[in-house]
Amino acid sequence: MACIFCQIIERTIPADVVHEDDDLIVFKDINPKGAIHVLLVPKTHIATVNDLEIHHIPVMGHMFEVVQQLAATWDIVEQGYRLTVNVGRGGGQEVDHIHMHMVSGWMRRP
Ligand code: AMP
Repeated sequence: MACIFCQIIERTIPADVVHEDDDLIVFKDINPKGAIHVLLVPKTHIATVNDLEIHHIPVMGHMFEVVQQLAATWDIVEQGYRLTVNVGRGGGQEVDHIHMHMVSGWMRRP
């Protein structure tokens, strides 16, 4: 299995998982861009936004439900946070398994 996020879902490589349910896994980014930086990843392997189909709408909607839950848990609703979905190499996507970045608390550059 080549996909690194599928391997995290299958628990064949480790990750710092902060949420998991039947359809979605959320884990900390290994190279965080903020004090909070997690990746929300559907358990179904969908390569990019370009590959989304109508039957994927529920899981993509569920992603936003989980974002709201995590924002409340981490008390960043008022402060705010950034959600990013990179698409394709030109869009900065490195891992070809659709995912949303959730980032808050930007770190100062040295
Ligand atoms: P993207 O550039 O949108 O495809 O984002 C991929 C993200 O996955 C990057 O921010 C990486 O730091 C992160 N990443 C890659 N491998 C791992 C891993 N094994 N565990 C956690 N995050 C990872």
